[in-house]
Amino acid sequence: MDKRKLGRLQKALSEEHDTLLRTMSRNREAEEEILVEKTEDEGDLALISHNKELLYNLHESDFRRLKAIEDALKRIQREEYGICTECEEEINEKRLVAVPWAMTCIACQEEVEREDASETTMTGVTRQIRT
Ligand SMILES: [Zn+2]
Repeated sequence: MDKRKLGRLQKALSEEHDTLLRTMSRNREAEEEILVEKTEDEGDLALISHNKELLYNLHESDFRRLKAIEDALKRIQREEYGICTECEEEINEKRLVAVPWAMTCIACQEEVEREDASETTMTGVTRQIRT
C-alpha cells in the first residue's frame, strides 16, 4: 500500500479513536446518572435494569472497537498493516477504507463472525445466570 493511502487511514484511525474515547466517557456519565436513580416503583426498576443492560452492551462494543483501532495503529507502526492476521493475505483496500481497523480479510472475517455468534449466545446465558 502506498504511503499516502496509509497516512490517510492512519489519520482516520486516530480520529475514530478520539471520537470513541469521548463517546465512552459520555456513556460513563450517563451510566452514573442511572446508577444514582433510586426508586421503589417496580416499573421504573425494570426500566433502570434495562438501561443498564443497554449500556453494558454499548460499553462492550465500544471497548472492542477501541482495542481494534489501537491494534491497527500499532500494526501501522510495525509495518504489518493491511495484512490479514488469519491467512496473511493482503486485505482489500476498499475494505480498509470502509473499516480501517479491520484485522482480517473478508473471508476470514466471516469465519470470525460465525464463531462470535455462538460466543455471544454463551455470554448471554452466563449473564442471565449472574443476574
Ligand atoms: Zn484472511
